[in-house]
Amino acid sequence: MISEEIKRFHRELPKGVELVAVSKFHPSEAIMEAYEAGQRIFGESRVQEFLAKQPMLPSDIQWHFIGHLQTNKVKMLIGKTSMIESVDSFRLLNLIDNESRKAGVITNCLLQVHVAQEETKFGFSPEELFDYFAQRGHESLTNTRICGIMGMASNTDDEERVRADFRQIASTFRQIRDGVSSGLPGFEVVSMGMSGDYAIAIEEGSTHIRIGTTIFGNRQY
Ligand SMILES: *Cc1c(COP(=O)(O)O)cnc(C)c1O
Repeated sequence: MISEEIKRFHRELPKGVELVAVSKFHPSEAIMEAYEAGQRIFGESRVQEFLAKQPMLPSDIQWHFIGHLQTNKVKMLIGKTSMIESVDSFRLLNLIDNESRKAGVITNCLLQVHVAQEETKFGFSPEELFDYFAQRGHESLTNTRICGIMGMASNTDDEERVRADFRQIASTFRQIRDGVSSGLPGFEVVSMGMSGDYAIAIEEGSTHIRIGTTIFGNRQY
């Protein structure tokens, strides 16, 4: 089942769209099944769970951290991920930069943008991000590479609402990319789309879809 789904995604995804297999709450055996079917990028959302699983798994896996990251756990994560997708505050961004400098590594990050209707979702507003780049805030980062943005659509069956959210995320990405006059090298990722809405996300310009349930089945919380 898992390997069938992985192979189907690899076959059907348009060129330029990467699959992040979201393995949170699933055991290492499930990850290995996906790995053996050719999957290399996996997404985890809890620091402890990730740190427990990682040592048991192949070292060429690219781990994306996608969950809300508490500042007191940043240090544990530095040097262990290929990308932190869920940077949702400037305080967190600066902390990641500081800890990366101390560890002598460069950390790839996405800025999480909040456009969905839900009050509780983490992330920056598009305006906060425009201001940050207009004021050249990113130029003070020494050990963080901002690779793009990540976002989620509203949790609703209303397809037009979902599409409008994805459109806004993609347009936020383009405005940042085209607005920084000196250019942002490596700023090329639009991570959006999950099991229920990835087809729409791809139509609206996603480069990375984050799929859990469709690949691994329901999570046992
Ligand atoms: C869990 C999670 C996903 C995967 O969701 P599914 O609906 O299971 O595909 C994607 N993105 C984030 C940020 C998540 O926390």
